Amino acid sequence: MADLFDKIHTDEAIVRAKDAAAIGMYPYFRALSNSEGTTATFEGKEVVMLGSNNYLGLTTDLRVREAAIEAIRRYGPSVTGSRFLNGTLELHLELERRLAKFVGKEAALVFSTGYQSNVGTITAILQKGDFVVVDKDDHASIVDGCLMSQGEMKRFRHNSVDSLESVLSKLPVDAGKLVVVDGVYSMGGDIAPLPQLAEICARYGARIMVDDAHGIGVTGAGRGTAAHFGLTDKVDLIMGTFSKSFASIGGFIAGDADVIYYIQHKARALIFSAALPAPNAAAVLAALNIVETESYHVENLWDNAEYMRKGLKELGYNTLNSNTPIIPVVTGTDFQTGLAWNALIEEGVYTNPVVPPATPPNGGILRTSYTATHKREHLDRALRAFKVVGERLDLIPTRPEPA
Ligand code: PMP
Repeated sequence: MADLFDKIHTDEAIVRAKDAAAIGMYPYFRALSNSEGTTATFEGKEVVMLGSNNYLGLTTDLRVREAAIEAIRRYGPSVTGSRFLNGTLELHLELERRLAKFVGKEAALVFSTGYQSNVGTITAILQKGDFVVVDKDDHASIVDGCLMSQGEMKRFRHNSVDSLESVLSKLPVDAGKLVVVDGVYSMGGDIAPLPQLAEICARYGARIMVDDAHGIGVTGAGRGTAAHFGLTDKVDLIMGTFSKSFASIGGFIAGDADVIYYIQHKARALIFSAALPAPNAAAVLAALNIVETESYHVENLWDNAEYMRKGLKELGYNTLNSNTPIIPVVTGTDFQTGLAWNALIEEGVYTNPVVPPATPPNGGILRTSYTATHKREHLDRALRAFKVVGERLDLIPTRPEPA
């Protein structure tokens, strides 16, 4: 008789993970201590941190920390209930007003995670007979929202305007349609071509939603990808997370007030889950104050990103189409990616190894990402490590031209 748990011992990915862990080569679920800053401690070793989403470095800003501490003193660590019932604090409402204003929309709704923001929004909006069209590189939380919804999901080729048009042109004219894209792609570090996408959506009567988890705090002077393109009015829904630039956890959806009201009353991921704790909300408010008044954080972030993009390219690395502070470094097979990750740790640099299916099509990458608070000495140390490891493991596809 088959046992439900048989797969636990035979699943190929799990068997490979255990084999790799047995020889100390499994990079996932490994604990960092002191992970928040420009450097971190990985299993007792100090490493330059190129693996966080702490784009503005605000997790270590004392104003953000103090705001969280003050809120925990005043409200405690949990609101012990859903936004729908006892879980709404004035703090949540203030945060929603501030976020809406920040991204240029009428209203916003705060969820307890970015993941829930996508799942809650998409499942609330799509009914039977509706279609949702997603970029092939969209985040898993978007795909999960689509699969959990009553609508039908279609996909288009990554950042391909032609492919989107081809999909939309085959859908029934009268059906409701939602196109969902990432503003900044979390692995490839490239930006969605929103002007062209929005134009096609308008032509086919489709609504457009942008997941700006990696755009908020980064693009458009921190206000996100729609702001970057001057297209805030053309994007129907803007989603963001607090777990990256905003030094907290949680997420939000912003749009027209009526649409947000509808989502608020239909999103099961909001209604049937406890609300964002006060210290997390307070940290985001403090981070927002900083982003709105001190432009140098975003500027430093971009300076650092451009410095590294140039440095990695000069070493001969393939960084795909990245044009943001997320810079993938193509490493090849899963095995090579694991070796490269390990060798970089030995050289004192922490990156995120990513292998298919989570990667763009070129096989494995080391995802690197940068922070406003990195100093040149951190970045130079990282570039030296990439040089040593690249040459040792033969990772560099094209040798730079001799000067
Ligand atoms: N969307 C994108 C594009 C993301 O990268 C992430 C997180 N990696 C999420 C949504 C989910 O956000 P959170 O971690 O805040 O739940």
